[in-house]
Amino acid sequence: MNALEHQLHYPLADALPAPAQTLAVAPGIRWVRMPLPFALDHINLWLLQDRIDGQDCWTLIDCGIASDATRALWSRLFDEGLDGLPIGRLLCTHNHPDHVGSAHWLQQRFHAPLWMTIGEYMQARVLSSRLPGADAQATAAHFRRHGIAPGPLLDEIRERSGNHYAALVPAMPEHFRRIRDGETVAIGGRLWRVVVGLGHSSEHAALYCEADGLLISGDMVLPRISTNVSVWELEPEANPVDWYLEALDRFESCREDTLVLPSHGRPFTGLHTRLGQLRAHHAERLEAMMAACRREPHSAAQAVPAMFGRAFDAHQLTFALGETLAHLHSLWYAGRLRREVDADGVVRFAA
Ligand SMILES: [Zn+2]
Repeated sequence: MNALEHQLHYPLADALPAPAQTLAVAPGIRWVRMPLPFALDHINLWLLQDRIDGQDCWTLIDCGIASDATRALWSRLFDEGLDGLPIGRLLCTHNHPDHVGSAHWLQQRFHAPLWMTIGEYMQARVLSSRLPGADAQATAAHFRRHGIAPGPLLDEIRERSGNHYAALVPAMPEHFRRIRDGETVAIGGRLWRVVVGLGHSSEHAALYCEADGLLISGDMVLPRISTNVSVWELEPEANPVDWYLEALDRFESCREDTLVLPSHGRPFTGLHTRLGQLRAHHAERLEAMMAACRREPHSAAQAVPAMFGRAFDAHQLTFALGETLAHLHSLWYAGRLRREVDADGVVRFAA
């Protein structure tokens, strides 16, 4: 636990749902945890009691990667943990594999509609299909352009990224029901407002219930780790740090006593404290990037140690480089850095 975490409050203390079990977090809302085979080793999913077309059911928020382990846990939950009720609707906050990977499998089982923003749904289809521009070649070219020289590391990045998304999201439901920013979605007895935010993914949807002070924050606000904010090969000119900071502002109007249900970590209160911490984190990282680029022009790969204070392996580097580049882009868009493409084809940022 880091020092910042002490400023937040965890009403459930250390309680966690056991594998294939649920834990009530509010009336009609149950917490499910699914394992992930990454450094970030779990995702939180939420089951909301619902009634759709006259039938009692659950609306499920996010669903876990497509894996044998996830499917086995879901099967146990369906048998034992859901009061015999079906999943009547699946709502995915965004396209990342831990949130959407099992959607196709669940839909085949329950024929429940998938609710998503159009940006997230379409991006999931593109990435899952490995279309040109979203494939291993494109990833390798992106990393090459941002300072990873041809060699074993670049080969490993190409190899890893080639199948990464499609392995975790092998298929997507062929239809979806669009949710839009500001739309109100009735789930069970509650009204939830869709709060779209950019920066972490294309069109991330969080859900806020003003009446009960509940925020299903997806990956936009997490208690312990900062949300990944990266420039990816599909959108190489993106400015996700600024977009993410704008998205954080949208949560300021939430109630002071809001209980945040995040996709990773534990439910917490102290949302406004956390928003301040996240802003401070990015401000500090931006100044670290400025300091590095004042010493000499930096490619994103060169700037990774200044950003994180350490080096990374190939898997971690894909996220670290994207996040470093995101901060360099913020400074570039603000006119504090200029961008130069050198004779070796590598992009460097200079103060
Ligand atoms: Zn995510």
